[in-house]
Amino acid sequence: MPITATQINTFIAAAAKSIRDHENEITALDQATGDGDHVYNLQRGLAALETLDDELEGLDWSDALQKIGMNLMSTVGGASGSLFATLFIAMSKALRGKEMNAEHFAEAFKQSVDAVRKRGKADAGDKTMLDVLIPVAAVLQEAAREAAGLTETLQRVEQAAEKGCESTRDMIASRGRAAFLGERSRGHLDPGARSSQAIIAAVCAALSALQTGARLS
Ligand code: ADP
Ligand code: MG
Repeated sequence: MPITATQINTFIAAAAKSIRDHENEITALDQATGDGDHVYNLQRGLAALETLDDELEGLDWSDALQKIGMNLMSTVGGASGSLFATLFIAMSKALRGKEMNAEHFAEAFKQSVDAVRKRGKADAGDKTMLDVLIPVAAVLQEAAREAAGLTETLQRVEQAAEKGCESTRDMIASRGRAAFLGERSRGHLDPGARSSQAIIAAVCAALSALQTGARLS
């Protein structure tokens, strides 16, 4: 069974569940280094995506990702809203007219992470979601180059996301609200890195459950 954009609804439900499961932890992180609204912002976006449901059915990857990005842009507040929206809109652009496969997805993900970097004027080491997204983009490209199987690719992605998230603990924030705290931001994971990692882990698990051992197509 090939993975199609129809399954996006499964991934959205998995992401929403994961954010619910980690709600208290992520809120505590944003209370420590920001203003405490990160989960609330995300949940507004995820709830909007869950109501799209039928509208996503039958779209190709590019159109579905575009619709998701536009919805996130108008529903998620905070700094993270426009950044997550940028990620999906840029991914949609990069996949337009292209067949979905491991190589094209890895290239599209890389381009979308670059778009987030540009939009947020941030990079690896700034203690943001980019500390998860950048290493994930790198392992996706590496796995595609090596023609690794789906199971192997998902494992590498999950590990890179976890390591990237954990790496934010000892960083001093230099972007976003947490940057106002300077040295005091050290010792906490970045909330956007933690939510990105939780979503990536949930989507990997959902993808794995849908199609163990097969290729993304
Ligand atoms: P706000 O900070 O406006 O309250 P959120 O709480 O929703 O927005 O999101 C905070 C998260 O957004 C941070 O934990 C960080 O991961 C991410 N973030 C903030 N600013 C930037 C930026 N310039 N570049 C990349 N990510 C950022
Ligand atoms: Mg916040």
